Amino acid sequence: MQITQEQDRQELAAYGGTPARTTPLPSVGDLSGRRIDEAEIEAVTRVLRSGKLNSTVGSETAGWESDFAAFLGVEHAVACSSGTAALHLAVAAVNPEPGEEIILTGLSDAGTMLPILAQNAVPVFADVDLRAGNLDPASAAEKITGKTRAIIAVHLFGIPAAVDELRALAGQHHLILIEDCAQAYLTQTASGALAGTTGQLGCFSLQQSKHITAGDGGTVVSNDVALARRARLFADKAWPRDAPTSATQHAGSFERTHLFLGLNYRMTELQSSIARVQLTKLETIVADRRRNAARLTHKLTGLAGLQCAPEDGTAYWLFPLYLDPELAGADAFGYAELLRPEGIAGVPGYIQRPLYCTPVLTGHHTYGTSGYPIADHEYGEGLCPNTEALIGGRLLTLQWNENYTDADVDDIAEAITKVHAYLTR
Ligand SMILES: *Cc1c(COP(=O)(O)O)cnc(C)c1O
Repeated sequence: MQITQEQDRQELAAYGGTPARTTPLPSVGDLSGRRIDEAEIEAVTRVLRSGKLNSTVGSETAGWESDFAAFLGVEHAVACSSGTAALHLAVAAVNPEPGEEIILTGLSDAGTMLPILAQNAVPVFADVDLRAGNLDPASAAEKITGKTRAIIAVHLFGIPAAVDELRALAGQHHLILIEDCAQAYLTQTASGALAGTTGQLGCFSLQQSKHITAGDGGTVVSNDVALARRARLFADKAWPRDAPTSATQHAGSFERTHLFLGLNYRMTELQSSIARVQLTKLETIVADRRRNAARLTHKLTGLAGLQCAPEDGTAYWLFPLYLDPELAGADAFGYAELLRPEGIAGVPGYIQRPLYCTPVLTGHHTYGTSGYPIADHEYGEGLCPNTEALIGGRLLTLQWNENYTDADVDDIAEAITKVHAYLTR
């Protein structure tokens, strides 16, 4: 036994062995891991040559909206400047009274939470399931009060959240279900629906690291005409360009009036033209990510204390590993430390702290020194045990990519298997 562990130890790059991987893997941060080619260059050049860079004069953004709506099989799509903006449009469409509550999880990008505060509503945190890190409907149910207006479900890493249960729960309490699909293009839910189509509102991101990108950008989808119109108006200073008055119609311009508090969150024609080309590649991108993920999942099957994501419907934005530190010999931090010298970067916890432990909430840093609308709300450690267990060592995320080759995946598998052998000997 002693000899074997010593041999395992010598295999590890951390202790002088040969790294499993010596060249960089394809990355979403540059062309190596992005499917951008002449088609995007041609599209964006066409927009530049037209001189129509803004969606109010060009047709690319309207084109993106109808392409994306058709792709998802929904009635309305509203383009905007980021995924965070998309969530802001969704919350603004819900139009909560100041101080009303919106339920979400603490294991997500801050873009899920910040729009709630921006609309003067209160983020209320429910816990996640340990199997995937998605919102647990039972925990969400416990958090509903007379002030709750909406629930935001994130399909974390592209793993389908329990949106059928959540939609039913929302229905019982007259709440709106918002799906955060920033990581979930083509994620399929348990009932076979595409992510973003079960809730009343679905929010997508086109930021650099997502399945498809326009650098930044976002889109809200809905089958509810009133919610969609409110979202559209909110992104455009609540300027009703869709309702020309008889006085201005003939001049081809619309009355400059502002129906409610809105901002300018419009997506540019440059972004939209790129997004339209990216959309034509989305099915292949997700299929390739799924194929690569299936290969790694297969190779890691049977390693004690390491679980991969449930495969059904998952779109693999990242590749999460769920650890039982007792059985796996170390937690996510221990694994990350030994994987790094192998040439494989793993991020323990995905984020460093739950959203409810960030200073914006714990220090009530919102509007001036008022703390509004959360001055009376306590945030901080202890709110959601599963969220904290995952962030605290039971979750390790690996970058994932459509451009990984089988050999790339095999290097990742080798590194994890090596580290696991040493830690569990
Ligand atoms: C990326 C992301 C966002 C925010 O999108 P941006 O385009 O970066 O503003 C929101 N929610 C989740 C789950 C994300 O992954």
